[in-house]
Amino acid sequence: MSFDYDLFVIGGGSGGVRAARIAASEHGARVGLAEESRMGGTCVIRGCVPKKLMVFAAQAGLMEAEMRGYGWCDATAGRFDWQVFREKLDAELRRLELIYRAALQKAGVTIHDQRARLVGHHEVELADGTRLSARHILIAAGGRPAKIGVPGEELAMVSDDLFLMDALPKKMLLVGGGFIACEFSTIMAGLGVETVQVYRGDAVLRGFDREARDMATLQLSQVGVDLRLGPTPTLLERAGEGVRVSFDDGSAEAFDSVLFATGRTPYTAGLGLETTEVRLKPNGAIEVDEWSQTSVPSIFAVGDVTDRVNLTPVAIREGHAFADTVFGARPRTVDHSLVAAAVYLRPHELGTVGLTEEQAKARGPVDVYSTVFRPMRSMFAGSDARVMMKLLVDPATDKVLGCHIFGPEAGEMIQLAAIPIGMGATKAQFDATIAVHPTAAEELVTMRHPSRRHEGLGG
Ligand code: NDP
Repeated sequence: MSFDYDLFVIGGGSGGVRAARIAASEHGARVGLAEESRMGGTCVIRGCVPKKLMVFAAQAGLMEAEMRGYGWCDATAGRFDWQVFREKLDAELRRLELIYRAALQKAGVTIHDQRARLVGHHEVELADGTRLSARHILIAAGGRPAKIGVPGEELAMVSDDLFLMDALPKKMLLVGGGFIACEFSTIMAGLGVETVQVYRGDAVLRGFDREARDMATLQLSQVGVDLRLGPTPTLLERAGEGVRVSFDDGSAEAFDSVLFATGRTPYTAGLGLETTEVRLKPNGAIEVDEWSQTSVPSIFAVGDVTDRVNLTPVAIREGHAFADTVFGARPRTVDHSLVAAAVYLRPHELGTVGLTEEQAKARGPVDVYSTVFRPMRSMFAGSDARVMMKLLVDPATDKVLGCHIFGPEAGEMIQLAAIPIGMGATKAQFDATIAVHPTAAEELVTMRHPSRRHEGLGG
């Protein structure tokens, strides 16, 4: 049977673009790709990239305070102009979008700027009614922000909307305690917005190392976020130009705008999956094996739509491995076990790789090498901000099982720490490395004695 394409990709985000490009340019496949929105997907257009630029924009106040501590008596951050920033941001995103598009075109991929849905195991239908056949179909449709199902929540924004605001709100409520809520609370407070964050748990960033979570929770309050642990919204109502929010503790308060950062769900709605035998997980994510293959042999899926590790570099790796396996005769899978990640808070970020102390303890005996200290940079400036470095070591093998860093540029540090840890480095090998002095990171190679040992579950 002859097909219009060897591969048809649904979704022009990180995973889909990489898979399409590699399949076409390196393995000679005839590839079509459909994207209903802007090329680049969540990360480039409404996620990681614009968010990180906002993090940089929002640190001026902290830098001002630090520089005053260094003798710049008149240091002042001045006035932030959202319009100026927005225009620059829009231009940058347009530039990046064009780069993605050009890379696909150069690889010979045919781009369809419209929505596509499956109409069979080898066929898709575009929004204009065109039907196209393909030997293989890759679903890389990503995820969508999820709200929590309370009345009036349509009055609230989700993260996609943040980059399109016409003006900054004076007072904003952020709901949630995950990556997005914590990063945007830090950003909004840094940009001068009166920022309230509500989170139902007792410390933000559930799932991360508990000691790091406690430090992040404390830091949010220290940078001016009014962090309220416990309450959850129950009702949102329009109040003039703003929104009045009622909470489950009986309180109510008005805000200029509200953001729900309460997780993301796989974007499978309307994909036509009911016309196929593709199996879904209970949360709606597409079920795949280690080759990213679904229950239908001709259909594969990568990235957030599969809800494995929902991070851009993981989707890229999955897309690349899929293309090499199916079109390059170079079969390879992706190891999801040791993926480093960072939460971009200010002044200190959180970088993490491997097991948390809680997970390591549940696994068996573990030595915890941990240090919390005031780094010279902020101490001199008069700040009380603390850094944490932690290594979790298996006492039987001396292998480093996990590393958690709460400090300036922890995202940069954890990237490097992830290399030896991924290679199976031992604590002795960390110790054999001579320190770079004076840095905060040198603590990673100078912690000689464990702060504590857990004997295993319940130890
Ligand atoms: P997360 O899953 O990280 O956090 C969701 C938050 O919403 C949690 O605090 C959760 O609470 C809370 N929540 C969920 N349901 C309810 C509810 N019904 N009522 C009250 N609170 C609720 O999702 P995000 O939206 O922050 O981020 C989505 C994903 O995007 C992340 O998982 C990550 O993969 C990715 N991302 C990565 C970034 C990075 O790498 N730096 C940055 C931003 C996003 P609880 O913990 O109690 O369940």
